[in-house]
Amino acid sequence: MTSRAVAPGLFAERDGVPHLIGSACRSCGTTTFPQQDGCPRCTRVDMQPCELPRTGTLWSFTVQAFRPKPPYQGPEEFTPYGVGYVDLGAVLVEARLTESDPEKLRIGAPVELVLEPFRTDSEGTDVVTFAFAPTAPSTD
Ligand SMILES: [Zn+2]
Repeated sequence: MTSRAVAPGLFAERDGVPHLIGSACRSCGTTTFPQQDGCPRCTRVDMQPCELPRTGTLWSFTVQAFRPKPPYQGPEEFTPYGVGYVDLGAVLVEARLTESDPEKLRIGAPVELVLEPFRTDSEGTDVVTFAFAPTAPSTD
């Protein structure tokens, strides 16, 4: 079975464990995701790729309850999904969430990075994207 990432340079797997790849400014330490060539803070072009932490906390979230407008390229069968900003310490990352029930999502809850199937392309290759999954029950 073959699979590929939804876009190059977003994440990598090491020993079967996924990591997001961001970039860090060598001048001022600002971290970005996704990677970019120039620093948004000091504007220098001195960024190097860096592995981001796999775990963080949910900073904000919403639930996409209807099919997004084109150029949305998801599966034909639309199912609601959560979208959130995850605080990884150095950077806030916008990502899909594996949980789509707002009753089970909580700001500040711990989440971890997972890879999940997104769609199958015209050659039958599984396209994989990243998402964050809650790591603890949010019923407290
Ligand atoms: Zn900088």
